[in-house]
Amino acid sequence: MSAPVLDYDQTIEQFDPVLGLEVHVELGTATKMFCGCPTEFGAAPNTQVCPVCLALPGAMPTVNRTAVEYAIRIGLALNCAIAPWCQFARKNYFYPDMPKNFQTSQYDDPIASNGYLDVDVDGETVRVEIERAHMEEDTGKSTHVGGATGRIHGAEYSLLDYNRAGVPLVEIVTKPIVGTKASAPQVARAYVTALRDLLQSLGVSDVRMDQGSLRCDANVSLTPAGNPVFGTRTETKNVNSLRSVERAVRYEITRQGAVLVGGGTVKQETRHFDEASGTTSPGRSKETAEDYRYFPEPDLVPVAPAAEWVAEIRDTLPELPWLRRARLQAEWGFADKEMRDLVAGGGVELVAATVEAGATPNEARSWWTSYLPQQANTRGVALDELPITPVQLAAVIAKVNGGELTTKLAQRVVDGVLAGEGEPDEVIAARGLVVVSDDSALQQAVDEALAAQPGIADKIRRGKVQAAGAIVGAVMKATRGQADAARVRELLLATVGGAADGNG
Ligand code: ADP
Ligand code: MG
Ligand code: ZN
Repeated sequence: MSAPVLDYDQTIEQFDPVLGLEVHVELGTATKMFCGCPTEFGAAPNTQVCPVCLALPGAMPTVNRTAVEYAIRIGLALNCAIAPWCQFARKNYFYPDMPKNFQTSQYDDPIASNGYLDVDVDGETVRVEIERAHMEEDTGKSTHVGGATGRIHGAEYSLLDYNRAGVPLVEIVTKPIVGTKASAPQVARAYVTALRDLLQSLGVSDVRMDQGSLRCDANVSLTPAGNPVFGTRTETKNVNSLRSVERAVRYEITRQGAVLVGGGTVKQETRHFDEASGTTSPGRSKETAEDYRYFPEPDLVPVAPAAEWVAEIRDTLPELPWLRRARLQAEWGFADKEMRDLVAGGGVELVAATVEAGATPNEARSWWTSYLPQQANTRGVALDELPITPVQLAAVIAKVNGGELTTKLAQRVVDGVLAGEGEPDEVIAARGLVVVSDDSALQQAVDEALAAQPGIADKIRRGKVQAAGAIVGAVMKATRGQADAARVRELLLATVGGAADGNG
């Protein structure tokens, strides 16, 4: 007999999920954590390496001061205590992409600990407690060639690129997140989103999940509803998009529920998330801390940031995203829901830049929350990757306000800019996008539309507002959206000489 399978809601009725999120962020320093090699992404394989990051015998590491500063900045922004003294540790294990056979990390004494991040989940604030944020180094990159999956199993051979070996990382680990019930997947996603925005505003990383500069491991366990003792967790590794974080957590909850209800036990293991199927599959069984034989790194002096330095970093933290949002919302006069939708759609900074370029907040918001997201969607790019700048958009908006463009025409101008046809003025000239407000041309179009729909003039005279709309629509169509709609309506009413008051 196969195990009874519960759906998500049934699982949540019987079990409480517990989450733990580990986020690795690659710092945007110019050089690596313990040597002077550049960190730039995308260089030819093995061109950004030296004896230190290749771990050649006798090579001695030194700590990157900027990386420590960034780690402190992250810790402070997460409301953590900053250790007055801490050291690096060796985490020993073998993997071909790690030339030292240990990762230089931190163990008992992370640079930052005991903080929190307040996260907005559908208008409600959830406080996620932070256990620690510690410094470490990235590994190189293996490419497994010849197999069907790109994984090592079934591959014919593997290629190694050590350019990334030694790039500074900060790992941010939450305390167990309890009490989220059915919203666990959304909480996980909202936390990673908030953390990403925070790290971006701190200027410490480019936070590109698609390039691996922000990676999330999601720990999930289930415990029978109301039971305070945690169940066994799995750790789904390297989930590389916000959407995947949510899907992976949701899938693991349902999978573990089925295992438990079927009388099985959840195995403590790492798992892989497969984007295509939305499922996780087992990786390796989980090492415990003892397996890594951590010990203090003998080649590096401890890090002891002076209190004055920490205070200076605290004083020079940039405006944090939630404070900035609150300030902008007040300045712009947006309702909570309007602001939430804008934030959710990733348009806050775009609206800010468009307003900065002279548009009014509401017009800027309207473009960045409706027409432009649609365009981004059809192109499969992020909103901020659309090839239109806030300055260009503000120029288009100014023309609408000045009566030179209708909203429809403005959309055509934006289409042209997005299609690479140049600046708004060039698009307008090349596509001949001008508002027709010349009365004789409009009058002729009105007359033609009335002639094409006999009987409608009568309806308009009897006050049928929709009938007027049909004629205005026909004129707009005939002029390919270039007519000044308000003027068309005036001409129409004058022509039929009716009682319709034109509203609607
Ligand atoms: P590891 O070295 O195994 O990755 P960490 O301590 O770095 O362990 O991270 C484990 C993460 O899982 C932390 O976020 C922790 O809060 C969380 N966690 C611990 N126990 C559980 C549990 N039973 N269920 C879910 N998450 C858990
Ligand atoms: Mg960990
Ligand atoms: Zn190096």
